[in-house]
Amino acid sequence: MVPKAVDFHTHAFPDGLAAKALSTLEAQPGNARAVLDGTIGGLLRSMDEAGIQTSVVACIATRPEQFPAILKWCKAIASDRIVPFPSFHPFDPEALQRIDAVREAGLKGIKLHPYYQGFEMDDPRLLPVYERLQDSGLLHLSHTGFDTAFPRVRKCDAVRILRLLDRFPRLRLVTSHMGGWMDWAETRKHLLGRPIYMEISYSMEFMTDAEAREILLGHPKEYLLFGTDSPWSSQKAAVDRLLSLGLGPEREAALLWGNARRLLE
Ligand SMILES: [Zn+2]
Repeated sequence: MVPKAVDFHTHAFPDGLAAKALSTLEAQPGNARAVLDGTIGGLLRSMDEAGIQTSVVACIATRPEQFPAILKWCKAIASDRIVPFPSFHPFDPEALQRIDAVREAGLKGIKLHPYYQGFEMDDPRLLPVYERLQDSGLLHLSHTGFDTAFPRVRKCDAVRILRLLDRFPRLRLVTSHMGGWMDWAETRKHLLGRPIYMEISYSMEFMTDAEAREILLGHPKEYLLFGTDSPWSSQKAAVDRLLSLGLGPEREAALLWGNARRLLE
């Protein structure tokens, strides 16, 4: 039987924009092909098929002026099954007010992406933004590691994650892709075993079972979160692969369900 599951990292788009958004993203060099149509309806069908109760839908504001539309859409799609994380642009002159607006809307977190938004995770210009995020109590889902569509220049790697958390120890940071996509030697060296939240999306695909097990068994089980990066990978295939690794029922339950439920309370 498939245990209950939360997918902490998915993407979807408003119905009228989904087809165009996916084809634009698929055209980026190195990017994967979507396995869903990019709509909330398509995501819900995939969740039903995979036995996933709840998905975090992460947005990325590539320009400051996108924020009002993103927030409006996030408020509209929020439900017990869809937990939207809006995004503001970190160099938006109104970034601090945007954080307040997300909190006041009752949403649980935000997503930032250093490559798509053009910043380094520990950029000193972002100190006030992180300060406000930390005070807000919002979850901060950050892309970490390299990105499929960008040159392999580090912007949000394990060393920067540690630097950020050192400065903002109460920041509710959730790192992505097992601590840093395609930079897992750095994850093993700097992050593994520490109390740092790590969602595991779009990573097992690039690992042997032994490599995946090393990270998933080496990290405290309270700090692991299931994720898929749907529509860029299949939710059903990710659940099946995870369960094939034999992590043990207690670790599986925490990773797939318990930790996410606690954070999203
Ligand atoms: Zn993603």
